[in-house]
Amino acid sequence: MSNATDTPVLRARGSRKEYGKGDGMVRAVDDVDLDIAAGETVAIMGPSGCGKSTLLYLLGGLDRPTSGEVELDGRCVDDIGEKALARMRRTDVSYIFQSFHLMEELTAAENVELSALPAGHSPRAARRRAEQLLEQVRPAGRTGFLPSALSGDQRQRVAVARALSNEPSVVLADEPTGNLDGAATLDVPQLFETLHEPGQTLVIVTHDSRIAATADRLISMRDGAFVDETSLTGGTTGRLGTFAELED
Ligand code: ADP
Ligand code: MG
Repeated sequence: MSNATDTPVLRARGSRKEYGKGDGMVRAVDDVDLDIAAGETVAIMGPSGCGKSTLLYLLGGLDRPTSGEVELDGRCVDDIGEKALARMRRTDVSYIFQSFHLMEELTAAENVELSALPAGHSPRAARRRAEQLLEQVRPAGRTGFLPSALSGDQRQRVAVARALSNEPSVVLADEPTGNLDGAATLDVPQLFETLHEPGQTLVIVTHDSRIAATADRLISMRDGAFVDETSLTGGTTGRLGTFAELED
C-alpha cells in the first residue's frame, strides 16, 4: 500500500542542466519532466554519468537548472532567492550521500540532533528525536562516538537518522549504499521502509536492485533523459513519533 497522495511535492518541467560551454558542453539533464507525489518512493537507476546526481541536485535546490522549471512543495526553486532556498534546503529537503558527509568533530548523536534543531523545535525535543531515530537505526550503542570510530555501515545509519531528524517532506538519497560492502547493503532498504513517515517522499538513486524493488516507481535514466518508468507495488509504514508527539 502506498501512502502517496495527489499532491506533487516535486515537479520538473523541461528541466535541463548543462555544464561548460561550446565543444566542452555536457548536457547532464536533458529536458526532464517529472511529477512525484507526496509519500511516493521513487528509485532512479542508470549508468554512471547519465545525470542522476545532477537531477537530485536540481530537485533539492542544490543547483539551478540551465532552463526549465523545478518546483518543490509548489514553490519554483528557480525564482526564489538564495536565503529562501537555503531555508528550504534546511527544512524541507534532506540528502543522504554516498560518502556520508557527517560532521567529523561531532558525535553520532550530535550529528543527528544538530540537524533536528533548525526545524524550530526545542533542544529537548531534538534530543529525544535523535535518540529515537538512533535507536531505530541501531548503530549498536555507539551514538557517543565520533564518525571516525564508526564503520561505513554505522556511519550511513547515522546519516539516515540525520536525514530524517528534521522531518523533511523530501529525502534525496544518492547511492546511499555505494560505499558499503555487500553484507551491509542489505540493511539500508529496510531502514527506509521502517523509518520513513507517511507523506514523506523518497527519491533514491541506486545501483542496488534490492533498493529499487522497495520503491513505488522505478525510473531508468540514460544520457540525461528518462528512458523507462515502471510502477512497482511498494509500501511504507511510519512507526516513528512525530515532533508534535515529542514536544511537551
Ligand atoms: P551520475 O550521477 O548519473 O553518475 P552526474 O549527474 O554526476 O551523473 O553527471 C552527469 C554528467 O555531467 C557527466 O557527464 C558528468 O561528467 C557531468 N558533470 C557532472 N557534474 C559536473 C560539473 N560540476 N562540471 C562539469 N561536468 C559535470
Ligand atoms: Mg552520481
